[in-house]
Amino acid sequence: MSLTHSIGYVKNDIGYGSSKSLRLSITFATEVFGGAMDYRFVRTTCPYCGCGCEMLLEVENGKLVGTYPSKTSRMNNGKLCIKGWNAHEFVHSPDRLTKPLIRKNGTLQEVSWDEAFDFTASRLAEIRDNHGPDSLSFLTSARCTNEESYLMQKLCRAGFGVNHVDHCARL
Ligand code: SF4
Repeated sequence: MSLTHSIGYVKNDIGYGSSKSLRLSITFATEVFGGAMDYRFVRTTCPYCGCGCEMLLEVENGKLVGTYPSKTSRMNNGKLCIKGWNAHEFVHSPDRLTKPLIRKNGTLQEVSWDEAFDFTASRLAEIRDNHGPDSLSFLTSARCTNEESYLMQKLCRAGFGVNHVDHCARL
């Protein structure tokens, strides 16, 4: 999508408070890159909570640089809370955890997903065997789908024989 197309796509769907920032971004892109840069807006859903606000992510050369609320969304009608407004920031953060870690000899060490799953399963089984199933509880994330939450309660009840399962969106 070209810069011109991106602007046309987004101009009728940009939310409250964003016009100044949008104008600055477009001016910068046009003057510095002459419209040749890869500059686009991608419609998506906020990843933070179950409200499901719609947003437009501003992407420059494959990197997320901004978030704007969708004005045409029936859910949020041009608004986002502070978490939504900053939803693009964690994606490229150097502090973001992208690989599993296991503490070995007092320090966290990067491991494969297979090792992480094996370790988690064996520790859960060990705790259940040594202390009984009531020593375990399971909490699912608001970012999980209904199907993932269903699978978690299956694992909890059918797999470990305990009813201690909840969802953080209920807090
Ligand atoms: S913008 Fe705020 S209220 Fe909307 S989905 Fe994201 S976290 Fe939830």
